[in-house]
Amino acid sequence: MSNNRFQALSELHYRQPRDFEAPATRVSDYFAGNVFSYHKMREYLMEETYEKLQDCIHNGTRIDRQTADHVAAAMKEWAISNGATHYTHWFQPLTGATAEKHDSFFRPIGDGRALERFEGSMLVQQEPDASSFPSGGIRNTFEARGYTLWDPSSPAFLVGRTLCIPTIFISYTGHALDYKMPLLKALHAIDLAATAVCQYFDKDVNKVQVTLGWEQEYFLVDSALFKARPDLFLTGRALFGHRPAKGQQLEDHYFGSIPERVMGFMQEFEYESHRLGIPVTTRHNEVAPNQFELAPMFEEANLANDHNQLVMDLLQKIAQKHNFNVLLHEKPFEGINGSGKHNNWALSTNTGVNLLKPGKNPKSNLQFLTFLVNTVAAIHENADVLRASIATVGNDHRLGANEAPPAIMSCFLGDQLSAMLDGLEKNIKAGKMTPEDKTELKLNIGKLPQALLDNTDRNRTSPFAFTGNKFEFRAVGSSANCAYAMTVLNTIVAHRLIQFRKDVEARIAKGDDKDEAILKELQRLIKQSKSIRFEGNGYSEEWVKEAKKRGLSNFGDTPSALEVWKRKDVQRMFEQLNVLTHQEIHARLEIEYENYSRRREIEARICSDLAQNHIIPTAIAYQSRLTENVLGLMEIFDARESAAMTSVQKGLIREINAHVTAIKTQIDKMAGEREKLESLTTEKQAQAYCHKVKPLMDTIRHHVDALEHMVDDEMWPMPKLRELLFTR
Ligand code: ADP
Ligand code: MG
Repeated sequence: MSNNRFQALSELHYRQPRDFEAPATRVSDYFAGNVFSYHKMREYLMEETYEKLQDCIHNGTRIDRQTADHVAAAMKEWAISNGATHYTHWFQPLTGATAEKHDSFFRPIGDGRALERFEGSMLVQQEPDASSFPSGGIRNTFEARGYTLWDPSSPAFLVGRTLCIPTIFISYTGHALDYKMPLLKALHAIDLAATAVCQYFDKDVNKVQVTLGWEQEYFLVDSALFKARPDLFLTGRALFGHRPAKGQQLEDHYFGSIPERVMGFMQEFEYESHRLGIPVTTRHNEVAPNQFELAPMFEEANLANDHNQLVMDLLQKIAQKHNFNVLLHEKPFEGINGSGKHNNWALSTNTGVNLLKPGKNPKSNLQFLTFLVNTVAAIHENADVLRASIATVGNDHRLGANEAPPAIMSCFLGDQLSAMLDGLEKNIKAGKMTPEDKTELKLNIGKLPQALLDNTDRNRTSPFAFTGNKFEFRAVGSSANCAYAMTVLNTIVAHRLIQFRKDVEARIAKGDDKDEAILKELQRLIKQSKSIRFEGNGYSEEWVKEAKKRGLSNFGDTPSALEVWKRKDVQRMFEQLNVLTHQEIHARLEIEYENYSRRREIEARICSDLAQNHIIPTAIAYQSRLTENVLGLMEIFDARESAAMTSVQKGLIREINAHVTAIKTQIDKMAGEREKLESLTTEKQAQAYCHKVKPLMDTIRHHVDALEHMVDDEMWPMPKLRELLFTR
């Protein structure tokens, strides 16, 4: 019997690792070669234009027409001298992928000649046909206009022969239709709020930047096997397949080195990343077989996020050259560890201080504690919004799956910091502080060691863990655009810092001195936010119970996690900080419900098709073979003997029948449920997909996986998980 699986498996015999060697030996020779970096701007721009552009990037001043024209001319010159023929506005619509529309530089000028043209107006604004991107009702489809606007803070770059210009994407009414614009606004909000708080400690601070270092996990699957699994290529995850034996998973740890074919892929990927100025520095095997991780040096958050978007594209492109497909889904294989994208987050000042790193003296340590405690308090106050920022179909399978952080938001601080906060909570007396009290407190604070970077004191089961000089938000999904989580995190911390400043000012107005006011306010926050701090095992059942006792939320699925966006106080917070208007929030909510339903709908369709067209026929074919065998034996042997000889086969025939019947019943039920969905609102649809359709898919899977155990391996139509996961 010929089937796709065996064709795919036979292709593997001919796989050779693709040789790849970077043309230059030193990364520094080609790093950022494809980027119109500050360095190149200096070379291509007049001094005055360069200064104006820098002023715009760092201080947000507007760029005048003439400056834009000069920048455009320089960009064009640089791009064309590097072989570019086209340019594109590169943006991040709410579909989750990046989008671009290419235009050529060349324009005919009428007398049989052509010129390469690129002016300021073309750099600054474009009008892509926006009708195919989700808008959640902000932009009526008949009014298909949307604009992309240049983001000068992220440098233009070359991909192949196309100049790519990072842009935001807005509707003609000015509403954000993308991930980048709210992120930029949140970064601005936290800059203002954190700078104001820094004034208590250092008057020289006039800007606070967010730094982001993401760690990207992914799976690699051979592309022939990938193509023989329609579920993988249409939904990103295996809808069927029983997990490989435990022993096989452990085997991977023994093979600690990166396989040769994977290494070839990684080297080429890193080369292309480096040419794009993406400072990828780390690569390693992950826990699961065929799972890997890469991480760059951290960067300013907007740039880091653009780089992550580029990396996700690049991973796919380069993988294909090596006959691999990259799976960015949060949980491609049930029973096997899923993939995340840890977001390492910190705040850094123009004076070169990381506000989340303990300082050298009591004063800088008090500043550190101020930012630490306010961050913890922000998570406590707005855990539900943070949870919503990571809610996606894929992440629903990963969070709380006992190998990823639970859906309960909590903060881990480690022994030393926990002790410090507990001390502050206890030792700050109510009422007026004496100078001695203050000195003693400050001395204590000063004792905080500068290096809290103790690797043994790590809690990998916490969704939001302090790791010495930054927080690591570990619950972000591997396929997510970091901007969503980063927008929310920075907004809620900004909101908290603004409140902090107000509360400290109020205490000062009542007669406290500055340090006393800060200390008392910190003490209040430490008390208030205690329930969000958790140092134990976040994967355990006990934590779920304990968290419930503490009154912490635990939203197990996307539709329920998204509810928080309807809260008026949440909308007000985003509106007041000028990050998202309530219309934008409403539109985003609609889009997220739609995305959820669309993804589940595709899964349900593929699940039915595969079960019906691949699995049931295979099971029946095998059953027929068993039946033939039983009839044959009954013909040759007498009744007593043949009864004994056919009992196993008969048992299998019955079992197969039961599974096939169950599958068919669930498929029909699912079709019925999906029909009922059509008239519902987007919200109700998402809920129904979650609570009605998804459980039916799970049941179908259960029966299909049972059949996989039973049916002759030679007949099974789709590559099995062990083949997908252990083939290199
Ligand atoms: P690990 O967490 O694997 O032990 P590190 O702590 O060195 O490794 O860093 C993990 C990630 O955190 C890296 O991507 C790194 O760039 C990032 N990172 C380090 N410092 C900062 C910071 N100040 N701000 C944001 N990200 C950071
Ligand atoms: Mg880490």
